[in-house]
Amino acid sequence: MAKVFVQPRKARPFWFGHPWVFSGAIDRVKGDPRDGSVVELCDHEGKTIGSGWWNGRSQIRVRLVALAHEGALDDALLVKRLDRAIDLRLDAMRLQETASVFRLVHSEGDLLPGLVIDAYREAAGETEGALHLVMQVTALGMTAHLPALIARLVERLAPASITERASGYAAEEEGIARADAVHHGDAPVHPICVVENGVRYWCDIRAGQKTGFFADQRDNRRAVLPYVKGKSVLDAFCYVGGFGLPALVHGGAASVHFLDSSGFALELAQRGAASNGVAERATFEDANVLRVLDRWGREGRMFGVVMVDPPKLVHRRMELEKGLRLYHEINRKAVGVLEDGGILVTHSCSQHVSESDFEHMLSTVAKETGCRFQLLHRGTQGADHPVMLPHDESRYLKSRVFRVVKPPEGFVPFRPDGPPRSAPGNDG
Ligand code: SAH
Repeated sequence: MAKVFVQPRKARPFWFGHPWVFSGAIDRVKGDPRDGSVVELCDHEGKTIGSGWWNGRSQIRVRLVALAHEGALDDALLVKRLDRAIDLRLDAMRLQETASVFRLVHSEGDLLPGLVIDAYREAAGETEGALHLVMQVTALGMTAHLPALIARLVERLAPASITERASGYAAEEEGIARADAVHHGDAPVHPICVVENGVRYWCDIRAGQKTGFFADQRDNRRAVLPYVKGKSVLDAFCYVGGFGLPALVHGGAASVHFLDSSGFALELAQRGAASNGVAERATFEDANVLRVLDRWGREGRMFGVVMVDPPKLVHRRMELEKGLRLYHEINRKAVGVLEDGGILVTHSCSQHVSESDFEHMLSTVAKETGCRFQLLHRGTQGADHPVMLPHDESRYLKSRVFRVVKPPEGFVPFRPDGPPRSAPGNDG
């Protein structure tokens, strides 16, 4: 087995199990490891830290999978970890009692680096009750263990199907080209219905985004319910209706306008509204959120609650500044269509945007618009997307609810670099 030696004074996080060894932390390599093969990770003196997967094409050169005391990196170890991941969802969290869709395996958060598995149990239709598992593989080394893991899933959960969805990230960053594939059973060729918090959703595990549904927002969807009663709500970046449908079904919203640039997602949202019997309070629009918000801002169309949940805008650290500007623009425009005292529900699912980056960006929006942002709720990804310390990088979802108090019409916000020319009483 090849040995990878960490640079002097860089080994500390790895002794505590941090799983990402970037190229810059590596001192030297003994042997010529094949991409995807198991290597021994050592500190610079040669003491064994553990074993992991080598990938010379990835910025994450070694994924540390097993510390020395945890045993050999083999099928048996990963199957044991798979069992523990399933136990956590079914026995400890009892998620199956409130949701028929949730994350079964969350990569590093379950000590199964580069593997995500979502579970979907059908809640309506001809094959009601059927369980479908959808996986994504983002580490080359994980691929060798898939047969053993799939066999264990079949043995333990008896799913109707196991599908793999190719990940664009894995292809680009890890150089692993995997295609969509059905590994077991028959995957549904049509959209399926699932239930979360008593709301029916339609999603498509073969053609939808990611694995088909964003289960990470489950708790945040519930957290906004108290604020929507009797309100006109905008669900921008709605996908299949994640936030807007519960607002109608349980929150008592007067109306929800669903807005997304994917006609396919909107069709599923529409189907969800019909299945939940709330279609008469729902409207749907296939358009670019930024353009629509601009237009409404000019026309003066207002909402009592505005929810924005854009896709991941920062994929690499070097895109952070640009991404934050885009988040800023989205939120500023969202505030532009919010009534005085209205509720802003806003999210970022970019791992590179920290909690403090996100709040700083939002406080800049507040300053520039002259609004007061009153923080009512701070949320993150659900517990089925756990973070295994010290790997804080897997905490990616940020959710905030604010009441927004608007300034009087014509108010010009203070600018530290001198008031703008148009400020009243300031042109001499
Ligand atoms: N809120 C959703 C998840 C949103 S995922 C839920 O709870 O399930 C992000 C969504 O943004 C996707 O559906 C994508 O189609 C949409 N999207 C991306 N860019 C967009 C744009 N410029 N205008 C409108 N929708 C956009």
